[in-house]
Amino acid sequence: MKTLNDFNFENKKALIRVDFNVPLNENFEVTDATRIISAKPSIIKILEDGGSCILMSHLGRPKGVQDEFSLRHIVNKVADVLGVEVKFVDQCVGEKAEAAAACLEPGQVLMLENLRFHKEETAGDTTFAEQLSKLGDIYVNDAFGTAHRAHASTTIVAQFFENKKCFGNLLAQEIESIGKVMETGEKPVLAVLGGAKVSSKITIIENILDKIDHLIIGGGMAFTFVKAQGGNIGNSICEDDKMALALDILKQAKDKGVQIHIPVDVIAADDFSNDANTQILDINEIPDGWEGVDAGPRSRQQFHDVVMDSKTILWNGPLGVFEMESFAGGTIELGNSIAEATKNGAFSLVGGGDSVAAVKQFGFENKVSYVSTGGGAMLESLEGKTLPGIAAILD
Ligand code: AMP
Repeated sequence: MKTLNDFNFENKKALIRVDFNVPLNENFEVTDATRIISAKPSIIKILEDGGSCILMSHLGRPKGVQDEFSLRHIVNKVADVLGVEVKFVDQCVGEKAEAAAACLEPGQVLMLENLRFHKEETAGDTTFAEQLSKLGDIYVNDAFGTAHRAHASTTIVAQFFENKKCFGNLLAQEIESIGKVMETGEKPVLAVLGGAKVSSKITIIENILDKIDHLIIGGGMAFTFVKAQGGNIGNSICEDDKMALALDILKQAKDKGVQIHIPVDVIAADDFSNDANTQILDINEIPDGWEGVDAGPRSRQQFHDVVMDSKTILWNGPLGVFEMESFAGGTIELGNSIAEATKNGAFSLVGGGDSVAAVKQFGFENKVSYVSTGGGAMLESLEGKTLPGIAAILD
């Protein structure tokens, strides 16, 4: 696996695919610069080598050229974060872009206009990718969030660089962290899957059953398993058409020696609102008119014990409706347990949309080993898929 450390960038122009798809407010100011901050180490390493950087990214989902999606809006923020001047060219391919790239001096940074102003980007067009490739000497992919897309700048462009292509630090860290869970994780390995739906996690479950020792199934998806086994779940969310599959997963887990942990009790609410009436109920005995919205106290203790016994932990999906303060307790306690286990030496990886939001919201970000930046890309990795953006560099 080639990384930035395999190259000396002195007098070289690095063409870097970054993920600067950042949120902007109505004044076109960046409201969360996490993605820019995450890309900084790779950019600085190249500049310190004596190279220059050509940054390419998408922003939003423009339909053709739309000024509101122009990357010029974020140039000042990128310069602030990097602490160096950032030039901008309002094209990403063609003569003007090539001229701007050609006159870059060592130590300088150039940002290209939004790749998605051209439909060829998402179409994975080879001619467009070749045009991009003319801008730099070495291709660096540092955008995990788009690594599952075979777009021109994330995948196709790599074929024009033969041996002169590598992973940026951020992407390398993502690959390493997923590898630590899926391939080289110290046992016992635990996966915690929560969130709303079984259907969105099935491929993940099936793929990881061979790699883990314990599986906690929490959140809304637990109710499909409980009902399938004959429990009364009241008005809790459930995918009836996935009950047979849930039973099959339980059987597969048993055959493979994986211990499954499903909540034994829940916080039940009489309404899907923060100020609903609540009671603690056995998960098999939820009456009509009530729905399970968070893990109960006995389940939290049980999950804490499993987490503390694990050496490798993957967490994807909240244990309850954490967006509502009254139902965030189970997710917060799980985060605390994982933080404690991490402090004691376990490796913990948090990934996939809502658990990342929960980790940030409740301040666990720096208390776990790694928080993945790529939602869809992370999920596809856990499903066992080879991401095209990663395969293109390994090729
Ligand atoms: P996912 O995107 O599949 O990880 O699901 C995340 C969502 O699951 C969050 O918005 C949670 O509010 C929701 N969720 C978790 N537990 C429950 C539950 N018991 N009932 C309804 N929704 C839930």
